[in-house]
Amino acid sequence: MKNKEKAVVVFSGGQDSTTCLLWAKKKYNEVLAVSFDYGQRHKLELECAKKICDKMGVEHTILDMSLLNQLAPNSLTRMDIKVDENAPEAGTPNSFVDGRNLVFLTFVAIFAKQRGISDIITGVSQSDFSGYPDCRDQFIKSLNVTLNLAMDYEFDIITPLMWIDKEETWEMADKLGGFDLVRNETLTCYNGIIGEGCGNCPSCKLRKKGLEAYLEKKASLYS
Ligand code: ZN
Repeated sequence: MKNKEKAVVVFSGGQDSTTCLLWAKKKYNEVLAVSFDYGQRHKLELECAKKICDKMGVEHTILDMSLLNQLAPNSLTRMDIKVDENAPEAGTPNSFVDGRNLVFLTFVAIFAKQRGISDIITGVSQSDFSGYPDCRDQFIKSLNVTLNLAMDYEFDIITPLMWIDKEETWEMADKLGGFDLVRNETLTCYNGIIGEGCGNCPSCKLRKKGLEAYLEKKASLYS
């Protein structure tokens, strides 16, 4: 049942944020999506995001965040930096973009307030923790307080995926009727291949592992 008016989803066109978009569409009368152009290696990511929004009837806004790449060049934006295959023993993996979620959520909050919206939805998750400090619950709660104080406004940052892993994220998408959409049209691969992806990058491996676990679970339920 839809019990709330409006929300903004931080949207990359990947598995997690598309699942959040499906979730938001069930809960809210009106859902807006915001994506960021931060010089991703694969412009396809933004095209992908736009296509999904068109399909779902969601107003889509792309904000220019090229500044982020200027400040913090990294393996997601630079072709000459190879994405770390495994998380390093210390510090953050080189696919981590310093300040990304801090900056994105701050700009989405400004965007939301301008439209009288207080609910902001993001697909960050602490469960498949891949060494990104800005995906942790503690950070999100802290930023929520900061944004409220900064703009004298009651934001509510909602994280439907915070405590679930990739397998459960697949399950959620399926229950929301978006399994095929997520499986075939989202882009999570670091090598820019839609759907199943390259199968070898860390992001593809995580996605595939979750999908296989979910399909196995589903098969055992119906056999
Ligand atoms: Zn891949």
